[in-house]
Amino acid sequence: MTICLEHQSVEDQATPFGMVCPQCKHRLYTNPPEGNLMSFWESQPVAYSLKREPCFAYTLRWEDFRIRSIHLPEDDLVTQESPEIESHS
Ligand SMILES: [Zn+2]
Repeated sequence: MTICLEHQSVEDQATPFGMVCPQCKHRLYTNPPEGNLMSFWESQPVAYSLKREPCFAYTLRWEDFRIRSIHLPEDDLVTQESPEIESHS
């Protein structure tokens, strides 16, 4: 799952550039950004998950517009830590 850092919204809208949040999609379609598109992972984590795992942001950057997405770990919603399996042998 990815979250738009600018709008704090879940990115669930499909576009030619990938999944974006509703507000970013609106911007892309009503006022298309200009210039070359660059896309890259930021080198510094922007947040940490509950398990202290770093969450990195993926950036799509045009000359006049930028979308930053934070990627949350898939298992972040699963709080169970899978303890040692009890054996009843
Ligand atoms: Zn957005």
